[in-house]
Amino acid sequence: MASFDILVTGGTLPDGTIADIGITGTHIAAIGDLTGSEAGETIDAAGDLVSPPFVDPHFHMDATLSYGTPRINASGTLLEGIDLWGELREQATVDEMVARALDYCDWAVSLGLLAIRSHVDTTPDHLNTVTAMLEVQEKVKPYLDLQLVAFPQDGFLRSPTGRENLIRALDMGVEVVGGIPHFERTMGDGAASLKELCEIAADRGLLVDIHCDETDDPLSRHIEALAYETQRLGLQGRVAGSHLTSMHSMDNYYVSKLLPLIAEAEISAIPNPLINITLQGRHDSYPKRRGLTRVKEMQAMGIRVGWGQDCVRDPWYSLGTGDMLDVAFMGLHVAQMTSPQEMARCFTMVTEENARILHLDGYGLSVGNMASLVVLDAGDPIEALRLRPDRLCVISKGKMVSKQARNDARLALPGRPGSVRRRHKVPS
Ligand SMILES: [Zn+2]
Repeated sequence: MASFDILVTGGTLPDGTIADIGITGTHIAAIGDLTGSEAGETIDAAGDLVSPPFVDPHFHMDATLSYGTPRINASGTLLEGIDLWGELREQATVDEMVARALDYCDWAVSLGLLAIRSHVDTTPDHLNTVTAMLEVQEKVKPYLDLQLVAFPQDGFLRSPTGRENLIRALDMGVEVVGGIPHFERTMGDGAASLKELCEIAADRGLLVDIHCDETDDPLSRHIEALAYETQRLGLQGRVAGSHLTSMHSMDNYYVSKLLPLIAEAEISAIPNPLINITLQGRHDSYPKRRGLTRVKEMQAMGIRVGWGQDCVRDPWYSLGTGDMLDVAFMGLHVAQMTSPQEMARCFTMVTEENARILHLDGYGLSVGNMASLVVLDAGDPIEALRLRPDRLCVISKGKMVSKQARNDARLALPGRPGSVRRRHKVPS
């Protein structure tokens, strides 16, 4: 008779399969009908969705949970946010940033979000941001994969020490190369920054993730240069373009040329729907653009697209929970991904597709993979998006890291049931 450390029984996997999952040590030892097996701990997941963990491909952990410090963003714009952050990063101590980030990671774990790619601002010469985030990365390593991107917020070329500090951050152990070409002084400087950043990544064997064209300017076309450099340096499959909001406003004929270039270069796209629709279109009257990139059109071309969170309670965004289902829910609405297949894909975008963007090893519900999963109080991925329900149980690398009791509302209505769960199945 098989014996496991943890046995999750009767759960519904994202593809609709009903299966037990047996965990031994840090890995998944068996999936299927494991009736009669013994286990140190058994989780009854009958009727519940069992999913691989959520993955966030775009976040700013050095700024999170700082909302209101030193003051709130009065205009609500991207540029006032950048100014505010410029003050905050000089005032915040390493310990403060570590404490805020660890608080956020607690939220993340409770929501089944177990892998995060975070951009770290490499602008200040003291690099306290980098010191703090490397410390957080080490502290959360047993239960959360934190991947760090060296991000020259004030420009790689525009900031006097932009280049030098980005390289110092990589030498300190930051593992992905970032950039912000649309914030450099000229289009030419933007392109030059991408050339150099991609060369640095190619030399060091690193991944690339660029804040690319986060603007409403339809002529902001740095994604074209990023695709060119990616192919020139053989970085296919290793580069991501974050935001790409200018594509929302671009001329359709130009986009018809651009999409195949992105596909050829195997560049992944990371729109951040909560933030993009909040920050973009601020110079518009009506009609008012919402700045989300062309998600469905990219997917139709075979381009990988993952939804990112970007901000939670920081100089750019006053709300946010850390729940990737909130992110996917908003993305689904704004991109109008409303068919059953498109809705299910939105769930995959915050799990499997984001895991691929991060190049995570051993991710997913298969035998031999890392034993990381989340049990949701929903019947399937689409219901999870609709309800954004409680995470009943979160297992990371073979350890139970969060548990929540099922919390049905109790009704007091004549002739009606005593409790309600708000689940709803399509009649078959
Ligand atoms: Zn960002």
